[in-house]
Amino acid sequence: MKKIFWYFLLIFIVIVVLSLVVIINKKINVNNPQSKDEKTEKLEFLNNIDKKIDYFHYSYLDRYVNYKQSHSDLSDIDIITRVNLGLDKPFYNETKPSNLLNKITILVNKYTYLEKDYVPNNLRTISSIFSNAEKELVYEAKEAFEKMASNAKENGYTIRAISAYRSYEYQEGLYNKYVEKDGIELADTYSARPGYSEHQTGLVVDIDNGNTDFNLFEQTEEFKWMQENAHLYGFILRYPKGKEEVTGYDYEAWHYRYVGKDIATFMKNNDLTYDEYYARYIDK
Ligand SMILES: [Zn+2]
Repeated sequence: MKKIFWYFLLIFIVIVVLSLVVIINKKINVNNPQSKDEKTEKLEFLNNIDKKIDYFHYSYLDRYVNYKQSHSDLSDIDIITRVNLGLDKPFYNETKPSNLLNKITILVNKYTYLEKDYVPNNLRTISSIFSNAEKELVYEAKEAFEKMASNAKENGYTIRAISAYRSYEYQEGLYNKYVEKDGIELADTYSARPGYSEHQTGLVVDIDNGNTDFNLFEQTEEFKWMQENAHLYGFILRYPKGKEEVTGYDYEAWHYRYVGKDIATFMKNNDLTYDEYYARYIDK
């Protein structure tokens, strides 16, 4: 008789514990609006890309999903890349200071800026043979530029620096002049706001061929030569045609950025802008 009592008590306790577990579980699900199922659904919408790439940020999941809804023509990889860069938000809206200061992998664009007092280390004057006036670049970029211009010259082409390092104050004057002439909206498509100009890194050079206006550089033989050879010296066309939405700038055939030979070659082979390269391989 005693045995039966204990047996029933045990069954009773098991039933009570199981009921409690069920009730508590239900409560947790009600309190958590982003339940596991909802998250899984969103990831499936992105073809479970989180399992394939290491620059996927779970905290951006809603932004990826929203951006995909308005950009259904883009691949999931491009969606992730662009949202990571901040492209789902307007230019100059949510900005942050550049890191990797004084590194050739530094990123400066309409979301990432340089402080007013930032002056890169090791600025050196480009040889007057390859520039139209006194222009400076960071030592490594200057050496690469002179080598490139010199090899171009041996092949009968003239590559001349017409703008290189620009200080914050210089850019401020330039931008204000353009705004006065064309208004903010138009000026923003072709000129950087002070602090947002890549020229302040000392890794950028604008070029011409010595006798054609730089605006027409695309039509010159030198442009063709640059298209085929610039990456071999570590330079890339920073604002290419067809990538205006990513870079935030009109196509500029004359503006080249030094990133080193390896990155430049990889970017050329994979048709990437530096913004995209940075989001995928540097900023992880
Ligand atoms: Zn430029």
